[in-house]
Amino acid sequence: MSAQIINGKAIAEEMLDQIKSRINQRLNSGKRAPSLAVILVGADPASSIYVRNKRLACEKVGINSIAYDLVSDIKESELFALIQKLNEDETIDGILVQSPLPSQIDEKLIIENINPTKDVDGFHPYNIGRLAIRQPTLRSCTPFGVIKMLNSVNIELKGLDAVVVGVSNHVGRPMALELLLAGCTVTSCHRHTKDLQSNIARADLVVAAAGKAGLIKGEWIKPGAIVVDIGINRLDSGKICGDVDFESAKDRAAWITPVPGGVGPMTVATLMENTLLAMELRGI
Ligand code: NAD
Repeated sequence: MSAQIINGKAIAEEMLDQIKSRINQRLNSGKRAPSLAVILVGADPASSIYVRNKRLACEKVGINSIAYDLVSDIKESELFALIQKLNEDETIDGILVQSPLPSQIDEKLIIENINPTKDVDGFHPYNIGRLAIRQPTLRSCTPFGVIKMLNSVNIELKGLDAVVVGVSNHVGRPMALELLLAGCTVTSCHRHTKDLQSNIARADLVVAAAGKAGLIKGEWIKPGAIVVDIGINRLDSGKICGDVDFESAKDRAAWITPVPGGVGPMTVATLMENTLLAMELRGI
């Protein structure tokens, strides 16, 4: 068997086209464009690339992105003051703080200080809580992007045995909550899981989010399973790869996402949609 490759890039492009036309409709009816404040602290190369992609996507769909490129030794209190200002600014619809943040800044506190109605990353405890009680509003971009991607190729999630590898607040945990909401029977694996292989081997759906190149071997995958690889790892050669050994896994899976070109573009497209949604939910 050779798996069908899920082209996240193409699905995300379609999403961006739709978002662009929704924004154009707003403009035609005399409303303003959505606006997203993008905060980058320091010059971490990977973060700079992610932020650039997000800003380019804003440009593509007609979201006004406002750049806050801050020095790496900025004081926590200064960042709080900026967040407060953006929370109160009626012309700002979304606030994104690119992680990781430097060690003098408590990322958890920063997220908690973002007004949940402008939390377009879907990281605020309020938004995670709403997802947990099956009343989602602004949903974490990567996990929700995965759901949208699977829906768009008509994969029925209800009843699947899903295994999520990774339990971080930003990715693995909300991913498990999304799959639970979609009707899967969900197992969360993490660095203390005793036997990762046997968990993977019984999964109808594997979602990898560990950030470990080659962690999941192709021969572990149940024949006919769906494999979603969220991991982004840079090898010494400079090549980007996921957590799943793609070449061997694609011979067993029914569906598989590539890295790059799979989940990454869906994350960015979902961020754009969240920004538009945040504006609409505030009745603007
Ligand atoms: P993280 O380091 O915060 O969390 C990693 C998780 O993996 C932890 O819960 C840990 O327990 C688990 N883990 C680590 N080693 C393991 C092992 N050997 N077996 C089982 N579980 C193990 O990372 P994160 O922020 O959740 O990101 C995970 C990966 O997803 C990274 O590669 C990151 O770059 C990528 N990512 C991709 C996107 C995207 O849009 N595609 C978005 C965000 C993050």
